[in-house]
Amino acid sequence: MASSTSSSTKATDNPDTVLIVGGGLAGLVAAHELTKAGKHVTIIDQEHEASLGGQAWWSLGGIFLIDSPEQRRMGIKDSFELAKRDWFNSAQFDDLEDEDYWGSRWADAYLEFAHKNMRTYLKDVGVGFVPQVGWAERGSGEAGSHGNSLPRFHITYGTGEEIVRVFRDPVLKAAREKNLVTFKYRHQVDSILQNAEGRVIGVKGTILEPTDVQRGQKSSRTAVGEFTLEGRAVLIATGGIGGNLELVKEMWPVKKLGGKVPEHFVLGVPAHVDGRGLKIAETAGARLVNNDRFWHYTEGLANWNSIWPKHGIRVIPGPSSLWLDATGKRLPAPLFPGCDTLATLKYICSTGYDYTWFILNKTIILKEFALSGSEQNPDITQKSIWLVLQRLLYGPEPVKKFMEHGDDFVVSDNLTELVAGMNVKAKERNGPQLTYEQIFKVLDDRDSQLANKYSKDAQLMLINNARSYWGDKLTRVVKPHPLLDTSHGPLIAIRMNLLTRKTLGGIQTDLKSRVIKSGGAPGSGEVIPGLYAAGEVAGFGGGGVMGHNALEGTFLTGCIFTGRAAGLALSESASAFDAAQV
Ligand SMILES: Cc1cc2nc3c(=O)[nH]c(=O)nc-3n(C[C@H](O)[C@H](O)[C@H](O)COP(=O)(O)OP(=O)(O)OC[C@H]3O[C@@H](n4cnc5c(N)ncnc54)[C@H](O)[C@@H]3O)c2cc1C
Repeated sequence: MASSTSSSTKATDNPDTVLIVGGGLAGLVAAHELTKAGKHVTIIDQEHEASLGGQAWWSLGGIFLIDSPEQRRMGIKDSFELAKRDWFNSAQFDDLEDEDYWGSRWADAYLEFAHKNMRTYLKDVGVGFVPQVGWAERGSGEAGSHGNSLPRFHITYGTGEEIVRVFRDPVLKAAREKNLVTFKYRHQVDSILQNAEGRVIGVKGTILEPTDVQRGQKSSRTAVGEFTLEGRAVLIATGGIGGNLELVKEMWPVKKLGGKVPEHFVLGVPAHVDGRGLKIAETAGARLVNNDRFWHYTEGLANWNSIWPKHGIRVIPGPSSLWLDATGKRLPAPLFPGCDTLATLKYICSTGYDYTWFILNKTIILKEFALSGSEQNPDITQKSIWLVLQRLLYGPEPVKKFMEHGDDFVVSDNLTELVAGMNVKAKERNGPQLTYEQIFKVLDDRDSQLANKYSKDAQLMLINNARSYWGDKLTRVVKPHPLLDTSHGPLIAIRMNLLTRKTLGGIQTDLKSRVIKSGGAPGSGEVIPGLYAAGEVAGFGGGGVMGHNALEGTFLTGCIFTGRAAGLALSESASAFDAAQV
């Protein structure tokens, strides 16, 4: 494998190489497709070799599939039609003639692939799935609106590390055995080179000083040189903006969410997710669309064991925790844990505070809390049956660690102490002080609804509904019980932070991942010759395949689908190019 930290260079190993800017999942999948077809690629990344794979390495490996054998084995009746209905009801595309023109077309193509081919494509490279299918984004409470009607979240056996491995290994092999890949680590692209006709011919950038930080840690940006690289085409696969808090705040969609830009966030992605790729593409004439669409979460914990700056961990919650806003009021129905991320975010913005409270107990946390991230799920990441059994018997070890060390946690056997602890945490954020009477009433009102199997409490209805899916009943949703019942204690209050994560808008691309030119009509087919985009920087397809809302497990698959499309299109155009040379 060739690696370079040398000074300014113009040479690539092969003049017909495709320059892939970004060695995250989208870039790796494109490289995999191209090298499979015998084409040469140059992977350029601002980070070092240890970081290859980007964000996907940290991911839980949740994959959105439709009507899979795993779903059928769990008794889930899914169909292409229902998934499509859910997708479009969630996406709420509202500009089909313009900004959503390609996103909605990518959605159609993606759904076909997720239904017919995604699982086989992944199985062929060696991916396996955990048999239990999860139910993410359970929805807004209305059949015709946002949310998954049923469980579709398939966790990769081996989590995100495995998703990276299955595409990285064949690319490394193609480099080693066929000399088809050149790696340019610590090469930060600053601009795209075009010839007089506007055709993209290469990239220009800064060589960064060598680093030995661990994967995910912030690396130095000290420049030691400049570089220029030329190639047959350039694929931008630089990810989103979630690691750049300044940019997140600058682009915060106040108009859409109301209120003001929140002050405090935890960051759900490493610092290399800096959003620079978007600006670089725009300067080259790319059309950026849907720049008010993001997928930031409302259940973020400050990591007690941080890897990157302001590192936050997202809780993927079961439905039983009681959710209160900063003033101690229960969030209105249907804003329950794990149901409707964007609507919950909008509500939180209306409160004027940037945190909320989960109130739960030990029984609930041990069964219902999943933490997103490969390192937070060592049992599945390490494929250890022994650790899986331990989790099922005693609860997840990483969750227990947060109970002990997490800065947002208050744990107590009695409610008076719990409220006192919450008030200390509230003060740190200039939040309102809560009273024992106020919190007791919210808990007691909820507990009063438990005498019968039925009740007027919408959250308890949701819990009962969830428990009629046996996967949830067995592993994910506890039997309803009084929160104040001390046998389920201690009580736990968690200050939930806003957590940055995904960018849903981005570079507009056609179905071959070619970049649409700014200024032209989106359907006119006017593309920037030689420029392609894939993954999060392209809104996972078309500049916004998910519209306003995501159904989860759709980001990794969005990178795979768009990276594959780019790789195939670039192989095709290389073949045409080769034929023309003969
Ligand atoms: C903790 C966590 C959990 C997640 N869980 C899930 C999940 O379960 N399911 C799901 O679907 N999704 C999940 N995601 C989201 C998913 O992992 C990402 O959306 C996806 O991996 C993005 O891949 P990408 O290739 O587009 O970009 P990235 O992974 O961000 O890769 C971009 C690469 O480009 C490089 N780069 C950027 N700019 C430049 C430049 N100017 N010059 C050179 N190099 C540059 C970066 O260094 C980086 O290596 C999760 C993400 C995280 C962080």
